[in-house]
Amino acid sequence: VDPLFLPRSCRLMLLVNPQSGKGQALALYNSHIQRMLNEAGIPHTLVITERQNHARELMREADLSQWDAFVILSGDGLLWEVINGLLERPDWEKAIRTPLGILPGGSGNALAASIHHYSGASPVSSEELLVSCGFLLCKRLVSHMDLVSIHLSSSPRLFSFLSLAWGFVADVDIESEKYRHVGAARFTVGTLVRLASLRVYKGRLAYLTSSRSANKSLTGPPDSLLLPLDQPLPSDWVVVQEEDFVLMLAMYQSHLAEDLMAAPGATMDDGIIHLFYVRAGISRAALLKLFLAMEKGAHLAANCQHLVYKKVRALRLEPHSAKGIITVDGEVVEYGPLQAQVHRGLSRLITG
Ligand code: ADP
Ligand code: MG
Repeated sequence: VDPLFLPRSCRLMLLVNPQSGKGQALALYNSHIQRMLNEAGIPHTLVITERQNHARELMREADLSQWDAFVILSGDGLLWEVINGLLERPDWEKAIRTPLGILPGGSGNALAASIHHYSGASPVSSEELLVSCGFLLCKRLVSHMDLVSIHLSSSPRLFSFLSLAWGFVADVDIESEKYRHVGAARFTVGTLVRLASLRVYKGRLAYLTSSRSANKSLTGPPDSLLLPLDQPLPSDWVVVQEEDFVLMLAMYQSHLAEDLMAAPGATMDDGIIHLFYVRAGISRAALLKLFLAMEKGAHLAANCQHLVYKKVRALRLEPHSAKGIITVDGEVVEYGPLQAQVHRGLSRLITG
């Protein structure tokens, strides 16, 4: 039986990426988090990450008997490393049940914004979001969180906790990295820039809404719904008619960014991939309107003919153009055909 709360005398590893966001994560620890954790009586070991993949390596090697939780103070990228590092272990099944926590210190803090939203509090940003997530952490309540496994054509399988994007959203996410110094506003700036050069992305999209098994194999959690990527889809998959898109966005938590509630209906462990796509032909004005409405999660009520929303368990995407960007949890991955399946409640997250 999984504990519902972190133990009283828990031992917590706090991973801080000093380069995340505006480069202030360590200052945020000193100004807010250290005192908060001390007052709540939560002993913690501070680990400052030194380079990309450092956290992932630490998770592969960590002695799990020494730790009750791994908490990160950074953007979503560092948690992505932690989750994938834990699932690469031979004892992945035990490792991924270690409670994880997230404190927003990056420029992409979507999971922190989602947790804050699930707590029922009204929207905040920046340091207020950090303080809110700090308080939630101190309450020590542990919940289950869905993960999604993603198969790319030649990279090893990887795991995702937030989002999978292709087209407009993926381009904005990556192009806006150069506006990192403006913090979370980078997505707003990036959206406006990308709107000016709006384009169509060609590809084939298919999804599965039922959870009937197709296959069993692999080490790690088996992807029972997926056949190998080079095999035709089983007959119960739905192939989307259109092949011209402006974006495809698969979400498993509510927020795509601090101020973008892309999947207002999502909860932590609903076992659902909230799949959105926007068909080509949408005007710039209509697309801008969708993104503005997304701030309050009102885009689905905007009655946009080009926006489609489906709740699915698995999906397959085959982009037709030779070059492009696909992101998983805001990080670039191999471009090409991919498929994904949800694993309900596979991980544990401290949510307050
Ligand atoms: P942000 O939201 O600002 O992008 P992230 O947490 O997503 O913050 O981190 C961005 C990237 O920085 C991640 O890919 C992570 O692996 C990498 N990283 C972690 N520690 C360091 C470090 N010390 N120096 C440079 N990059 C790092
Ligand atoms: Mg990031």
